Amino acid sequence: MQILVINCGSSSLKFAVIDPVARTEAVNGLAQRLGSPEASITWKDASGKKQETAIAGGDHAKAMRAVYGGLKERGLAAGLAGIGHRVVHGGQLFSASMLIDEQVEKGIESCFALGPLHNPPNLLGIRICKELFPGMRQVAVFDTAFHQSMPRQAYLYPVPYAWYEQHAVRKYGFHGTSHRFVSARTIEMLGLKTEDSAVIVAHLGNGCSATAVKNGKSVDTTMGLTPLEGLVMGTRSGDIDPALIAFMCERLGKDAAKVTDLLNKQSGLIGLSGVSNDMRALLAEVDKGNDRAKLAVEVFCYRLAKSLAALAVPLGRIDALAFTGGIGENSVPVRAKVIEHLKILGFALDPARNAVSGRESKGRITTDGSTCALVVPTNEELVIALDTAGLVTG
Ligand code: AMP
Repeated sequence: MQILVINCGSSSLKFAVIDPVARTEAVNGLAQRLGSPEASITWKDASGKKQETAIAGGDHAKAMRAVYGGLKERGLAAGLAGIGHRVVHGGQLFSASMLIDEQVEKGIESCFALGPLHNPPNLLGIRICKELFPGMRQVAVFDTAFHQSMPRQAYLYPVPYAWYEQHAVRKYGFHGTSHRFVSARTIEMLGLKTEDSAVIVAHLGNGCSATAVKNGKSVDTTMGLTPLEGLVMGTRSGDIDPALIAFMCERLGKDAAKVTDLLNKQSGLIGLSGVSNDMRALLAEVDKGNDRAKLAVEVFCYRLAKSLAALAVPLGRIDALAFTGGIGENSVPVRAKVIEHLKILGFALDPARNAVSGRESKGRITTDGSTCALVVPTNEELVIALDTAGLVTG
């Protein structure tokens, strides 16, 4: 069975054809800089062979038509069993993946205010696919769905209650597909019982969030109403004093939207270091003695460790801390620093295991006998393909 997985962003479109049973990928690709003269589409076949084509000025519809054409050429279009779409915001409406019908489309649209940058292109992708693949069943997989199990005390902000009632202001949490997959995989790898498990997942990529998963369910997470809250990220600040926004509006003579934009795009690792939002580049700078890069990495790790420790509260105990995402899976020094900060919770790093991402110890990077921390690669596309396959085959 082959599933087409689509992640339609504001100026990009990621796609992959995945067999969720065999867990293999026939092809994947990325259309980027959509709407600009430099728009292009890159294909990567299972053999690793890459091919890039220009689609100058191409929008989402043109890119999707090019994907459709490319799939036909490769003999992949006819055998598709369904299409799975990543949808960022499901608000309080969706606590699981959904087979898409008129109602679901309306639901996604009703969450535009909550996910203004993501939901409109996500829905656009769904509508374009409806035209290109008439009759094909489509599934929406929501970033927020896994976190709908959070209790009120975790998701409500201490602000006027009317903001929640009238404006749906609450924590939603994101990266849900990754947290769901990685927590389940951790439970499986460690031979835990889902119904009696306490796992923290640290998803550390360009965007970063951590989640406390108790008995298989999200009970608290670091991202909030938007993906700006929580951990330090590549370009996002994460937690700050909320009064900082009004303060900087006055100082800079900018409005709140502009300052919020700076918190989203010019803060975090890039803001502190002035060098890069990319952890690999920053670590290379640290090796060259760049003090601002060092500062950025230190703040990243320190704040991350504090947030991880806080997630022990809803769990009551920690069976495992799982590192995932580009940084979590690959950055040996970041994991080492974070584990060092977390000694208080019984973690003790095994440097040899950490150096090989725990490949020889079932992912484990801490010593036997100390609290377990491990590396668990995420696979959000596979989750989307699995959910889609499950729903289209009933
Ligand atoms: P993602 O969004 O999951 O693709 O993760 C992107 C982040 O992972 C970037 O900050 C990359 O620099 C970081 N990353 C990827 N590979 C490495 C590596 N080998 N060492 C450190 N960071 C890495």
